[in-house]
Amino acid sequence: MLTDIHTHTPGRSDAMLSVEPPAVLSRDPMVGDTPFSLSLHPWHITESSISEFDEALALCSGSPMLMGIGECGLDSHCTTPLRLQVEAFVYSLAVAQRLKLMTIIHCVGHWAELQQCVRQVWKNGGACEAYVQGCPLVIHGFRKGPVLARQLVAQGFCLSLGEHFNPEVPGIVPPDRLFRESD
Ligand SMILES: [Zn+2]
Repeated sequence: MLTDIHTHTPGRSDAMLSVEPPAVLSRDPMVGDTPFSLSLHPWHITESSISEFDEALALCSGSPMLMGIGECGLDSHCTTPLRLQVEAFVYSLAVAQRLKLMTIIHCVGHWAELQQCVRQVWKNGGACEAYVQGCPLVIHGFRKGPVLARQLVAQGFCLSLGEHFNPEVPGIVPPDRLFRESD
């Protein structure tokens, strides 16, 4: 049972470790013995990131410890061109859909673009359809207020709260859509 759906600290059996493709490709011994998600982080995307992600996925997609895709998503404050961010995020969502995994989403700014990416993969059902299909779309490290939280929950997203969060938010997210993380 996972009590923490997003950590960068390896070696915990109750937490999902966010792993960048190079760690898989270099066969980092910290990867694979505990639950993990494969990341395509918007901060680190270059033109070759998707092929590197694919190579890593080929090595680990059969592992029962691969429990999610991410963190992945969109960030209005980073230097990665939005075009590359969108391409990598849509790709990540499609992989999670194909492998029936949860998606751990990093979103700063770009909430409208997030919706567009989700609809490219999950069509009009959006995040609700993903949830019903057993592939929850989880906004990680959610720090915004109740208005955006309500909108996202109504759209079908799950929210994950870290150390800092708005105290009104836990009360408005259904328990099955609320996660915790140490990041
Ligand atoms: Zn993180």
